[in-house]
Amino acid sequence: MTANLQALLKQVFGYSDFRPLQREIMESSLDGRDTVAILPTGAGKSLCYQLPALVRDGLTVVVSPLIALMKDQVDQLLAAGVSATFLNSSLDGSTFHKRSQELGNGHYKLLYVAPERLMLTDFLERLAQWNVRSLVVDEAHCISEWGHDFRPEYRKLSQLRSLFPQVPMIALTATATPQVQADIVTQLKLQDPALFLSSFNRPNLSYRVIAKEKPAKQVWEFAAARPEESGIIYCQSRKTAESMADMLIDAGLPAIAYHAGLEADERTRNQEDFIRDKARIVCATVAFGMGINKPNVRYVIHADLPKNVEGYYQQTGRAGRDGLPAECVMLYSRSDIVKQLRFLDEITDPQAQQVARRQLDQMAIFAEECTCRRASLLRYFGEDWPHDNCGSCDNCLEPMDTWDATIDAQKLLSCIYRIGQKARFSVGWPHIADILAGANTEKIRKWDHSSLSTYGIGKDKSRKDWIDLGRRLTSLGLTEASPDQFQTVTLTEKGMNALRQRVPIILSRRKDEAEKQVATAAVARMAKTGDIPCDEGLFHELRLLRKTLADERNVPAYVVFSDVTLRHIARSYPLSASEFLSVPGVGERKLTEYGDTFIAAVGEWLATNQRKTFAETRQAPAPPASLSRPTRSPGDLSGTVLESLKGYRSGQSIAQIAASRGLIPTTIENHLCQALEAGEPLNPEDFYTAEEASLMREAFKANSSSTLTYIYESLNAKIPFGKLRFFRAFEVTDIH
Ligand code: ADP
Ligand code: ZN
Repeated sequence: MTANLQALLKQVFGYSDFRPLQREIMESSLDGRDTVAILPTGAGKSLCYQLPALVRDGLTVVVSPLIALMKDQVDQLLAAGVSATFLNSSLDGSTFHKRSQELGNGHYKLLYVAPERLMLTDFLERLAQWNVRSLVVDEAHCISEWGHDFRPEYRKLSQLRSLFPQVPMIALTATATPQVQADIVTQLKLQDPALFLSSFNRPNLSYRVIAKEKPAKQVWEFAAARPEESGIIYCQSRKTAESMADMLIDAGLPAIAYHAGLEADERTRNQEDFIRDKARIVCATVAFGMGINKPNVRYVIHADLPKNVEGYYQQTGRAGRDGLPAECVMLYSRSDIVKQLRFLDEITDPQAQQVARRQLDQMAIFAEECTCRRASLLRYFGEDWPHDNCGSCDNCLEPMDTWDATIDAQKLLSCIYRIGQKARFSVGWPHIADILAGANTEKIRKWDHSSLSTYGIGKDKSRKDWIDLGRRLTSLGLTEASPDQFQTVTLTEKGMNALRQRVPIILSRRKDEAEKQVATAAVARMAKTGDIPCDEGLFHELRLLRKTLADERNVPAYVVFSDVTLRHIARSYPLSASEFLSVPGVGERKLTEYGDTFIAAVGEWLATNQRKTFAETRQAPAPPASLSRPTRSPGDLSGTVLESLKGYRSGQSIAQIAASRGLIPTTIENHLCQALEAGEPLNPEDFYTAEEASLMREAFKANSSSTLTYIYESLNAKIPFGKLRFFRAFEVTDIH
């Protein structure tokens, strides 16, 4: 059976190669095993059950949460010549009846169905008579309360197991958290499932955080500079989503708003307009997104700070599903945090409030991060990004300098200390900066702050520099701002220690503005890595042709062909059926339906335009095997790594090095791991016990191709991540 897979992949879907894990997932399911597939958006999960459905006898039933999405998937399958259909509440009685009959006659290979429909008793009885050979639960995280899209009706799916004890199930999701994964397995009652978990890196997305100044203007400039591209603008509130959309429409850009406050039909209409490219830009709250499988969203802008990192990852993940380059931009200002803290105050359950606070903290850390944002995101999901530079986030592209901020930090910390001593109340950063700069303000006169010994000792720096430095100290945990709107600053215990012991503080900063601008231009350029160079003029023509064909058939453009396919046509200029068939995304059905039209269009183009030539495209780099060791040499180590190494050599523990450097322990672990990988002789006993080592050895052996998260889970979270990372660096190559 599995030998057929490769042939059908080309014949039906038009692809020559499987994406990572696709074949393994398909084979596992065809072997009759329950299978869990956890792959990021755009990895090609749908194919993992669609192709096996064609190979095996009988019907594959796919549970999918959104009606809009179902129709879309079925349209795409029909366009590829696969007999598929859906049943949900949007159908009238007679259509429903007719389809049911056809299903009974074995007319279809795939059936999409909404969970609420599936669980109606008479429907289940029918289903039992339809020769069901495979069950698929798409967006399986909806079953978990820990997930971001919990849907109570998904819970009922646990009945499927008792109804179809022998039918293999596939659960698919893009949610990476271990809790959700575990929940899926228990709730669906999967039996000894095979788990496939891939890297969550999205190589075609670039990440950028920019200072939020005038958000409406910034969004407009960005969108106006990309006149042909689709994008999503996420806003915190319904009101901002509306006003952002109005502003863009006023400026002549085709935008719409989307949020849960709209009437149901308006929501559906707006979503449809976006999917059909009638409105290129959607300004939305987080209510927008799940089940939007529009592949050519070229950018996602967060105009406001997302509530948590997981949400941020999911929302940015909606860009670039087709694998072509896409941009993720976040507008960030500290005042967003203040605003959100005020919302958090309204949460009555103290535990929920605490969780929300921690999530917001992590989000702020991400936004203020000076190291690779891709690495930071992946670390959040427990994944190690074994590269120094991802080449497509602002922090990797804009050069950073490190500088010794010890003296300035001492000035700031002691100023806060003295204000506290004198006044017995605390003040905000702007006022502290005024004191250091020796300003003569009304408050300074009123509170007699010019008599402080720190008054005027910081005239060498601007007020803004002092405020910036102050905020950096807060993110290092040396100072703390009150969560109310006054944001008054106090020293933490750690800050007090740093002040008393004159702890060295090394910070990084961007190089000067001129370089920064060059680097920003580089971000724009770098965002294009992975792009498929093609004849842009012809591509433009082909897009218009595609739109006409799609409108005639009343389907979204990507049901006809994806942008990837059009780009391949516009670089290989196919003029015969066999040439057209070799284009990725062209299967037999699409050759029959569209071949002549597109071949004619290419011929017409070449009659008046010169053929261009293109170098071979490089395949997007495969995600690094999670267990391979990055190679480094000692000369590559940065100053900050050497600094941590010095601490280690002098006999300090990770916690001690972290405390004395004002950094978090994970960062120190990272440094020491880098040093280890570069060949520095470290001692394993400093990092884990012999007993822990033998547990880890077993786990790594048993899961040799899994990510650290999975190994961490397999050890029941008993051994912290840091230790696993060290163990890997010390030993894993020996095991293989
Ligand atoms: P997911 O559900 O994981 O987000 P999709 O199933 O929507 O991803 O697939 C994303 C895109 O990748 C689709 O345009 C799909 O046609 C394409 N795709 C899937 N498998 C392959 C493959 N083996 N080769 C090339 N493109 C593929
Ligand atoms: Zn990076």
